Amino acid sequence: MIKNKLLKQFLVEPGTEVSLKDYVTDWTETGEARELGKEFIKERATAILEESRASLAEAQELLYASDTHSVLIILQAMDAAGKDGTIRHVMAGVNPQGCQVFSFKKPSAEELDHNFLWRYMKSLPERGRIGIFNRSYYEDVLVVKVHPEWLGPGSPAEPDAGFWRRRYEDINNFEKHLARNGTLVLKFFLHVSKDEQKRRFLERLTNPEKHWKFSEADLAERAHWKSYRKAFEDALSATSTKRAPWHVIPADRKYVARALVADIIVTAIRNLGLKYPEVPPEQLARLTEAREKLEGEGSGES
Ligand code: AMP
Ligand code: MG
Repeated sequence: MIKNKLLKQFLVEPGTEVSLKDYVTDWTETGEARELGKEFIKERATAILEESRASLAEAQELLYASDTHSVLIILQAMDAAGKDGTIRHVMAGVNPQGCQVFSFKKPSAEELDHNFLWRYMKSLPERGRIGIFNRSYYEDVLVVKVHPEWLGPGSPAEPDAGFWRRRYEDINNFEKHLARNGTLVLKFFLHVSKDEQKRRFLERLTNPEKHWKFSEADLAERAHWKSYRKAFEDALSATSTKRAPWHVIPADRKYVARALVADIIVTAIRNLGLKYPEVPPEQLARLTEAREKLEGEGSGES
């Protein structure tokens, strides 16, 4: 497990005004990490990811058995920050029946005809399950804040500050509702630097096996880097709450990001203090009866 003291630096304290320059993108370059060295950190991070994967598989089973809570994991980031890889690596050991991943793209006309939370509500994890939102309703205060023309019919052409403030409020109220009804909400912003994004785009453009990952739209969005950064800062400041906190994860090193995300999820589920349901004495007696009956059977098909 990673020490709480270390994890704290990635947590957005509720009520703070977030400035992303205060959060590192490459943790291996920070003072405390430099002393350890990149090779050591990579080894440790890989070991932590492996441990967390096993713990997460156990935690999910307990989540299912206790049947009182669900977990919603939200991943947001700029393009090529590693959302897909994080999901693949962190969830690798979890029973596929116990987790659901939803990726949200540009909304359809039908979706735009509803309130902005509608399409996400339909994909919330049921009790006992872990749901992952690869992008989420946060897009509706991020990409759409950068491109208000994508808001859809019935929305103001030039939304003012009050419009966005009401959306943050809706999101906070929605997450409060989820928390009150047994959903643990964990939010991760994979924080990648502009230089690292350039390297990853170039890799996609150079390596034929990665060509499919590149879209020209990605370059167009990169040109809005500053506006996105501001939109992220505003959203993180307005919506990091005690019940649904944001974590700003340094994402320039994939192994660091994955280990941190996995560890934070495991710790948060453990903190729910879930217990396997106890079988009442009468039922225990029936289980013994059933066992004796089975043991008393002859072998074969007769
Ligand atoms: P990808 O995840 O690379 O497949 O891209 C999905 C695209 O859908 C991204 O460009 C997102 O910004 C966009 N998208 C997701 N949600 C919304 C939304 N609510 N409104 C507009 N665009 C969105
Ligand atoms: Mg993309």
